[in-house]
Amino acid sequence: MPHFHSQAKPNSAVVAVTLRCNSRCVMCDLWKTKEREIMQPKDYRRLPLTLQDINISGGEPFLREDVDEIVNEIHDHNPRARIGISTNGFLPKRIEEQVKRMWLGVSIRVSIDGVGEAHDLVRGIPSGFDKCVETLERLRRIGIKDLGIGITCSSYNSEQILAVQDYAKRHDLKFNVQVAHDSPSYYGDHPAIRASVATIKPQVEAIIHDNFNSNSPREWGRGLFHIGLVELMEKQSRLLSCRAGEQFFYLDPYGNVFGCLMRGDLKMGNLLEQKWQEIFCEQEEVWNAARQCAQCWMICSSKPVVHTQPIKVIKTIMSSLVRYRLMSALKGMCKSLSS
Ligand code: SF4
Ligand code: SF4
Repeated sequence: MPHFHSQAKPNSAVVAVTLRCNSRCVMCDLWKTKEREIMQPKDYRRLPLTLQDINISGGEPFLREDVDEIVNEIHDHNPRARIGISTNGFLPKRIEEQVKRMWLGVSIRVSIDGVGEAHDLVRGIPSGFDKCVETLERLRRIGIKDLGIGITCSSYNSEQILAVQDYAKRHDLKFNVQVAHDSPSYYGDHPAIRASVATIKPQVEAIIHDNFNSNSPREWGRGLFHIGLVELMEKQSRLLSCRAGEQFFYLDPYGNVFGCLMRGDLKMGNLLEQKWQEIFCEQEEVWNAARQCAQCWMICSSKPVVHTQPIKVIKTIMSSLVRYRLMSALKGMCKSLSS
């Protein structure tokens, strides 16, 4: 193996196993893709062993008949990595059948963009919400422990955040919120349906309040993510600078490796033609471009960089713990004085 001056060891990856999709979302054009994927289950053994977190996404991953084989190959190759699948949840029976054949330690996240018809409006699928509910019930019945839902906010559903969070709480599901992002190379551009800060901020602030009034450090981590989300929307800047191509990357269904899924200009190589060690070395151009970029703030681009900027993380968490707990104490005092 040649010696490289600079070598990245990514800890996290988004792996799109197909770009085909059976949804008709207002904020994403991927469903218009007809192209078939090239990567085969065994090819995923070429992924770096440094990965601790592998998110299988799409398109809709369960449209592939061999997604169970893909998960099992990845788990066999790298048993310590967390493997998650993001799905639109519109194929309940098929999802159950495929998941039953997989390593059952897999985490699954179903997209829920509103409760009831609000979800169907965003996703363009009649009775889509009911299908997602059926998928979640089936997955729970077969023993999937790490189950969650996530909302992607646009102008269509930006008032639904707390309703979806409440659904998650009532059904003991993990919950995640993100905003729809524009990207010519992935989701496509939809500036007309961007969610407004004025609608989103008070709802996310309420979630941050809960996060920092909890005694769980995991909740504080979620709070940090939500603070970053508000910062991106208000100031178009990132709470933690990006490390795309170093700490994380995006792999498409044709073996192409990019710094992230949003930027098609940050191509680093091809996993079917090169070893990962070659792809992740001497990529200063990509790494520098990412460090200066503030185009997104998503779980896949924020969680993998937390350990790279510990002082900023600790300061933000400490000041938020003081701020939100003081706010709670003051509210409590006012209530008791007025009663
Ligand atoms: S957001 Fe997801 S479910 Fe919707 S069209 Fe895009 S890939 Fe499909
Ligand atoms: S901030 Fe820029 S480089 Fe980093 S993940 Fe987002 S779009 Fe990619």
